Amino acid sequence: MGTVGGSICHADPAGDWGAVMLAVGAEFVLKSAGGERVLPAAGFFQGPFTTGLQSNEVMTEIRIPVGTGKSGGTYLKLERKVGDFASVAAAVHMSSGRGRVASAGIGLCAVGAHSIKATAAEAALVGQEPTDDVIAAAARLAGEAARTESGHSGSAEYKRDVARVFVQRGLHTAVKRAQGAAA
Ligand SMILES: Cc1cc2nc3c(=O)[nH]c(=O)nc-3n(C[C@H](O)[C@H](O)[C@H](O)COP(=O)(O)OP(=O)(O)OC[C@H]3O[C@@H](n4cnc5c(N)ncnc54)[C@H](O)[C@@H]3O)c2cc1C
Repeated sequence: MGTVGGSICHADPAGDWGAVMLAVGAEFVLKSAGGERVLPAAGFFQGPFTTGLQSNEVMTEIRIPVGTGKSGGTYLKLERKVGDFASVAAAVHMSSGRGRVASAGIGLCAVGAHSIKATAAEAALVGQEPTDDVIAAAARLAGEAARTESGHSGSAEYKRDVARVFVQRGLHTAVKRAQGAAA
């Protein structure tokens, strides 16, 4: 009976929802006896099990913007067996207009001390035609954003490369979905 908010506030670096919230550009409403504030997902995740929440605050709302253009996205997860935490995962979301990428969001899971927003990869997409080369270059930047160490789920090099491949595959799927095609 876990909740999405509980998972986000728990901030496990391998938790699925953090990467998704970074990709879709979510905002979190935090309430305390003193009032309410809204924090963007970007910057909320600060370290393992550490967030921008104050000890007297409760997350009461998650806001996900609805874009104006056509959009699509996906979440790709490598797990040792079904139901496991991610060894590596990537969330990708994009919107398009006039054949170009209008906005792009990429969140990485389990490749660092917290969920990572691959900002350089996102910036490399915006305004571009989503060609194979543009997508491959953005995916390489996303792989470089991974700050992972070798461990029981694989070497650092392997996990960075899985992140790159997932972002590349995810972007191709997102483009197809934004165009209204089955993916
Ligand atoms: C066997 C198992 C497998 C799992 N596999 C996965 C997996 O594959 N992927 C994945 O992402 N997760 C996985 N999880 C983790 C699970 O998703 C989280 O534990 C769950 O989502 C937490 O949600 P909750 O509502 O139970 O939070 P709780 O456990 O009740 O709370 C977690 C923390 O967040 C705080 N908190 C909760 N809600 C709020 C709020 N609204 N505002 C402020 N603070 C709050 C609590 O005080 C606590 O510190 C797994 C867990 C188990 C036990």
